[in-house]
Amino acid sequence: MRKKVDKYNVIELGRERWKLFRKKILTRAFQADFDFEIHTREGIVYGQKGDWIALDNEGNPYPIADEIMKAMYEEYRDLKDYRPQTCKYCGREQHIVWKVSDELWEQVMGKDNQQTVCLECFAAAAAAKNITIKPEQVTILAYI
Ligand SMILES: [Zn+2]
Repeated sequence: MRKKVDKYNVIELGRERWKLFRKKILTRAFQADFDFEIHTREGIVYGQKGDWIALDNEGNPYPIADEIMKAMYEEYRDLKDYRPQTCKYCGREQHIVWKVSDELWEQVMGKDNQQTVCLECFAAAAAAKNITIKPEQVTILAYI
C-alpha cells in the first residue's frame, strides 16, 4: 500500500533510520540579472532577477532562489583556478591556499593590506604582535 508522506508523519515514518547526508554533486549555476521562466517537465517555473539558473545532470536548466543558494551552496573553486603566488615578505612561492577571518587578518596584517603572505610569515607577523594563532583559526583551502 502506498503511504502518504507529509511533514507531520515523515519523522515517525523514518524512525531510527534517519541518517545525515551531504550532497557530493557539483552544480553549475549563474545568477540571473533578468526575470525568467523555465519550461521544465513539471511545468513552467518562474524566477526573478537575483535568482540562480542551474543545470541538472542532463543539461536542463532549473531555478534556485537566492536564499536557497546562500543557505545550501558554497562556491567550489577548482584547483586550476589557483596559481602559486609569491610571499611579499620571504619571496617564496606559496603552495598552500589558506584564509583566516577578516578580524584576525586585520589584527595581524593591518586593515586594507592585500599583500600575499605565506603562512609562516603570517605566523611570524602575529608572534611579533604577541598574537597567538590557533590551528582552528586557519582554513586550508587547497594545496597547489
Ligand atoms: Zn613568506
